[in-house]
Formats: sequence, C-alpha cells, structure tokens
Amino acid sequence: MKTALITGITGQVGSFLAEFLLGKGYEVHGIVRRASMYNRSRIEHLRADPDIYGSRLFLHYADLQDATPLRRLLCRVEPDEIYHLAGQSHVGLSFQIPESTVHEVAVATLSILEICRDLPKTPRFYHAASSEIFGSPEEFPQTEKTPYRPDNPYGCSKAFATQMVRVYRNAYGLFAVSGIAYNHESNRRGENFVTKKIARSAAELAMGREEPLVLGNLDSERDWGFASEYVEAMWLMLQAEVPRDLVLATGQSCSVRAFAKAAFLAAGIQLRFEGGGEDEIGVDEKTGKVLLRVSRDFYRKVDTVRLVGDPEPAREAIGWSARTIGCEVAKEMVRAELSTLGH
Ligand code: GDP
Repeated sequence: MKTALITGITGQVGSFLAEFLLGKGYEVHGIVRRASMYNRSRIEHLRADPDIYGSRLFLHYADLQDATPLRRLLCRVEPDEIYHLAGQSHVGLSFQIPESTVHEVAVATLSILEICRDLPKTPRFYHAASSEIFGSPEEFPQTEKTPYRPDNPYGCSKAFATQMVRVYRNAYGLFAVSGIAYNHESNRRGENFVTKKIARSAAELAMGREEPLVLGNLDSERDWGFASEYVEAMWLMLQAEVPRDLVLATGQSCSVRAFAKAAFLAAGIQLRFEGGGEDEIGVDEKTGKVLLRVSRDFYRKVDTVRLVGDPEPAREAIGWSARTIGCEVAKEMVRAELSTLGH
C-alpha cells in the first residue's frame, strides 16, 4: 500500500484527491490547520466513515509556515507521494493580503522542498501551480514554455514556487513536478469564486430568490474544467517515468457571460443580456425580471482577460484530457446546487 500526504486536504481539490487516492488503495494523510471554527465539511463524509478514518485516512495538525513540526511529521509519515495543494487561492483576495499570500503559497512550498531534500526516503512531490503564472499572456493557447508574467500577488507567488520546484528537480534530482492547472470547478468550490457564485445564484433565483446576482467583468474568459477530473492528472504526473511540469487545461475558453447564460439555462431560465459595461443586465426572457447586474465592486485592480491552456502535452505525456468543459461545467454545478436546495 502506498502512502500519500496531502496539504490542503480540506479544500475543493484536496477532498476530491483524498477520495481518489483512497479509491486506489492508498493510505492518505492530510494536513489541517488549527482554526477556531471547524472547516472540514468537504471531507466530513470520509471522517464519518469508520472503515476509512483512523485506518486509511489520518489528519494531522500542522501549519505550513511552521517548518519544524512539518519536518517531524514528514519524517514520521514517510510518504511515497506528497500533493501540495494548500494555500490562499483567491486572486482578488491576494491584492488585499499579499504578504500572507506570499508566505502561504511561495515560501511554504520552498520549506517543503527543503524538507524533502533531507528525508531518508525521498517522496515524489506534486505542486499545484496555476495558470495565473501566465498573467496576461501574449500567446494562445499557453504551454509549459510560455513566459511567466503574473499580474497579481497570487500569480507571483505561484510563479516563484513553480520555478523553485524546477530548480530543486534539476539541482537535487527530486521527482518534483508542477501541474500548471487552469480553473477547475465544482460545487465544492469556495463561495467567492465566480462559478460557484453563479451556479448558486442561478439555482436560488430559479427557486424564487428576489435579489439579482451581482458580478464584475462579464468579458473575462477562463479555461474552466471540472475539479474531480483534475485530481487524476495530478496522480498520473507522479506515476510518470520522468518528472515533468505540465499544463492541465481543457483547451477551450468561455466568458463569464457565457458561463452565466449556461448556468441559468440549466436552472430553466433563458437569460437575455442588455446594455453594456457596468450598465449591462441579464433579464429573464419570459418574465422581463432583472436577474443579473454588474458592479464595479467585483472588478479587479488588474484582471487577466483571457486564459486558455494547451491540453496536448498532458495528453501525450500522461494520457489525460478533461471531459467536462466550460458550459458543461456550469450545467453540472447548477444540477448539484439544485439538488442541495432540494429541487
Ligand atoms: P480566478 O480565475 O482564479 O481569478 O477565478 P475567479 O472565479 O475568482 O474569477 C474568474 C474571472 O471571473 C475573473 O476574471 C474575474 O474578474 C471574473 N469575475 C467577474 N465577476 C466576478 C465575481 O463576482 N467574482 C469573482 N470571483 N470573479 C468575477
């Protein structure tokens, strides 16, 4: 039985990855941060299963900015594979808390790499990099060779961590790789991400909510895939013969406006857009009611207008490609929200 350690196990991706690895027969160790409020809802179903929790799934308190207990834990667990997913992951928020974002995302990755160098049994290391390292790219689609030009504190931190993974791979021979993942979503996504906000609101508005959905830039385009599919790519990257950074993407981009239209349609509402810029509204085709508005409050200081990744190298190297793409993601997320709301 292989042993895996996941940082960020209570997050969206960590919870899917834990399920996936347990399904493959792994012993899974997760690192959780102490907090006064319990924040484990995404893995509660695993914790509640006596056949899993305490026999194949173990949780440990540690803070990634506290290297000594982390080193002690890694020495004790002796993982075969480490999946490093933890860290503040919201781009907009990273403008408000840039220093803690850099500590959590950039410096913490370096600390784990330093520990890995010293472990008697060197684990394979996966780092969750992000398309945000490309910032406002000049080439489409982006590949592993596209220059990094991050334009927010989160992207800068991920760019640093991605470079460090490469440096440690080359300098110390570690099997350390970065998956440069594009946006991957699900109903487990944090509430301040646009896809979750849209899916939740579309479902609630279809069930009688009065207040319209308020969004920022509707013209932004992202390469949206489904989170539960991306965890397989992460695992495959650590099973490869040769360590290699890969872009993980669907290869298609979709605007926030198109995503919203598809989400409302999945909730049974035909949305018609009227006006433009900050005056743009989304109207229910049937009732004429305004269901969507735009507000400056949700615009970013600097926003990446369009990101789309090249899925070919990952398909060739590890045989992985995304199945649920763009508007299909919206449909799946609204279906899940409707069922949570008891529709
Ligand atoms: P990101 O790609 O990691 O920043 O993921 P987000 O889901 O936070 O944002 C995706 C895109 O949606 C960005 O270009 C945002 O500017 C845009 N967007 C438009 N309206 C909103 C909104 O209300 N909330 C968020 N989070 N993003 C929005």
